[in-house]
Amino acid sequence: MIEEVINSFDYIVQLKEKGMITWEEIFPSFYSIAKNNFKVIQENGLLEDVKKILAYTKPLKTLSEERKERRLEGLKDSLKILKERYLVDEVLEKPEKKLAPLTDIKYIKKVGTKRALILNKLGIFSLKDFFYYPPRDYEDRRKVVKIFNAKEDEKVVIIGNVVKSEEVKINKGLTIYNFSVEDDSGVIIVTFFNQDYVKSYLKRGVKSAFYGKIEYSYGMKQMKSPDFQVIESDEDFKSEILPVYPLTFGIFQTTMRRIAKEAIQQTYFLEEFLPEEFVQEFNLLDLKKRIKGIHFPLSIYHKERSWYSLKYEEAILFELAMIYLKLKMKEMKKGETKEIKGELTKKFLNTLNFELTQAQKRSYEEIRKDLISPYPMNRLLQGDVGSGKTVVSELAIIDVCEAGYQAAVMNPTSVLAKQQFKKLSKDLEPLGLKIVLLTGDTKESDKILIKEKLKLGEIDVVVGTHAIIQQDVEFKKLGLVVIDEQHRFGVNQRLELIKKGNHPDILVMTATPIPRTLAMTFYGDLDVSLIDEMPKGRRPIKTILIAESNRKSLYEFVKEELDQGNQVFFVYPLIEESEALELKNAISMYEELSKVFEEYKVGLLHGRLSPSEKNDVMDKFVQKEYDILVSTSVVEVGIDIPDATVMVIEHPDRFGLSQLHQLRGRVGRSDKQSYCFLVIDDDANNEIKSKMNSFSKTLDGFEVAEIDLKWRGPGKFFGVEQHGIPEFKFLDLVEDINIIENSRKKVERFLATIQSFDRYPNLKHELQTRYGDSIHLVNVL
Ligand code: ADP
Ligand code: MG
Repeated sequence: MIEEVINSFDYIVQLKEKGMITWEEIFPSFYSIAKNNFKVIQENGLLEDVKKILAYTKPLKTLSEERKERRLEGLKDSLKILKERYLVDEVLEKPEKKLAPLTDIKYIKKVGTKRALILNKLGIFSLKDFFYYPPRDYEDRRKVVKIFNAKEDEKVVIIGNVVKSEEVKINKGLTIYNFSVEDDSGVIIVTFFNQDYVKSYLKRGVKSAFYGKIEYSYGMKQMKSPDFQVIESDEDFKSEILPVYPLTFGIFQTTMRRIAKEAIQQTYFLEEFLPEEFVQEFNLLDLKKRIKGIHFPLSIYHKERSWYSLKYEEAILFELAMIYLKLKMKEMKKGETKEIKGELTKKFLNTLNFELTQAQKRSYEEIRKDLISPYPMNRLLQGDVGSGKTVVSELAIIDVCEAGYQAAVMNPTSVLAKQQFKKLSKDLEPLGLKIVLLTGDTKESDKILIKEKLKLGEIDVVVGTHAIIQQDVEFKKLGLVVIDEQHRFGVNQRLELIKKGNHPDILVMTATPIPRTLAMTFYGDLDVSLIDEMPKGRRPIKTILIAESNRKSLYEFVKEELDQGNQVFFVYPLIEESEALELKNAISMYEELSKVFEEYKVGLLHGRLSPSEKNDVMDKFVQKEYDILVSTSVVEVGIDIPDATVMVIEHPDRFGLSQLHQLRGRVGRSDKQSYCFLVIDDDANNEIKSKMNSFSKTLDGFEVAEIDLKWRGPGKFFGVEQHGIPEFKFLDLVEDINIIENSRKKVERFLATIQSFDRYPNLKHELQTRYGDSIHLVNVL
């Protein structure tokens, strides 16, 4: 086939590039390829082009090295052109009827109401959804071989006549149908299991094409349950690449393909919406070609170009949405600018017994500029656990309150809200600021009072959970919203906030060091400040893998730490015993550890305690009424206990690496040496061991996140809910980092101002249909 011929030319050029052959050797190699494939070349109309290329590669004595180099470049270009010309195509036959891309899928021929319901389950509701429904694989049915030449394990097409058939009843449930199929080179056995309908097709003397894998059985070549197509003559067989779609119950691959054939006809009417400069810069296939090419590619080259182009399409559109949103948010004026005096913050800084790190100073400076600016702040403050984000947010809160505004601080749980409240009231009340706590646990009568005071402006700072935005809380003058430890607080929630008030400044803080690509997608509309430096004097936490059988020495170590007045966490994946999983659990280990360390006080924390019970346990640990805290992962984020020096995590493989990193960050928050023990089963497999090992070697949250992303994939990275990250169909957030980055850079240049968008109505329309709902773009476009 023609793709193989062009690839052979390509291969020779690669050999030359690798220095494995000389320029002079190209011509004879090309010549023999051309000669051996003369028929294919001629039939596909390539003869003239190949002649030109041959002439171009003729070895000439007069050619200098430099000109050979240039010719090699020219040769590469010619081959590229050849590929684009002969290996890529599009649907050209005009369908009778034009259907709008958003036409309900049930109106496509061969679909109908009943099948449409099944397609809906696959996420296909419209014609356009089908365009963008990627196959999970392809079957290359271009390789027709003679039976004699068919090699074991190869997937090929055989064309032959049925010469014999037999039916073997093995038992009640299993009947085997064997057919001997012959061509002019040999015989192959084609076998089916229980599919008795094949009998009626594969009668003796019938000619058929079979597609399947070649196997050997008792010295005979065999194909098991191949796809087949009865034909009149060899010419009836269409050698093509077919899509293999992900399916669901109630629909066959063949049906999907038939529907696809119908649907894809309609790409005839598609018009490119990507601006020419994107197509040029990234060398993308035109819309018609790239859609056709993921379903019915003319060649493997076509398929790959299509996937590549659709990845870019997806990345470009997504980044456009993000940057558009960012610009749009910047455009919304705050109404008035805040007058930041900085007197109170000076006072506050003097009360601290440490100096801010350079990174903290820089981040605060960036935030202050946003506060003063007439446009609302949308900033992410990113910094590893313990890097000191709180103090930076406090500075912003103080500034805003001094300027006569109110601030709201939101936390993911009420335990954290309470701890945060304690810290903030200790720091801010001496400065004369009024601060309250508002969570689900707050008494109803207190709630009413608090809401009243917020409305009157008698309270400066309210600390709480996300309920603050959901409830009907009104502010007199909300100037700043701080969202702590909230990597799940997506674009939509932020837009919700903005819709609510008169554009408060928003500061999102996260210790979840998300990998670059995810940050770019999830926080694509935010400005970022990074605290990439730990406070001075911190000793790096030592992470130690310990075998279950070594538990005793672990306990001895823990005891020594306790004797020095330090505190210890024990963390378990389960609350209580489970029949299905043989894992240690918090409740029974709480009992065991209370005995092992009987002279010390042990607390127990898990998600089944009521919020006030949780608060109580946490409080006691903070106040050092407990020396040991046995817990599930509820202790995960944000909690600050300076005397805690040991974190023991049992069954660490039950946690994600990023979660382990968060847990580890609960210790090492002072100048004492801290330790994190990962207790590993003696018979744990190598994968677990190597994963834990690489985790123990780094303290860098970003590195952990990258490792985690590689192991778990982006879907699970954020936990079950994805909150605003659209599902990408083509992009792979791990593999396609470069595509995302390139697109982002290009889009930033392209969309310098919002107005520049108006020149591209098609693009705008596409963006709206694509992301209108999921990113609430409807509100702003
Ligand atoms: P995180 O970024 O994880 O939220 P915190 O803000 O809770 O971290 O800070 C962790 C601890 O480090 C706190 O006890 C805090 O007082 C302390 N800290 C913050 N900044 C500094 C600094 N520049 N020098 C010394 N200690 C600091
Ligand atoms: Mg924090």
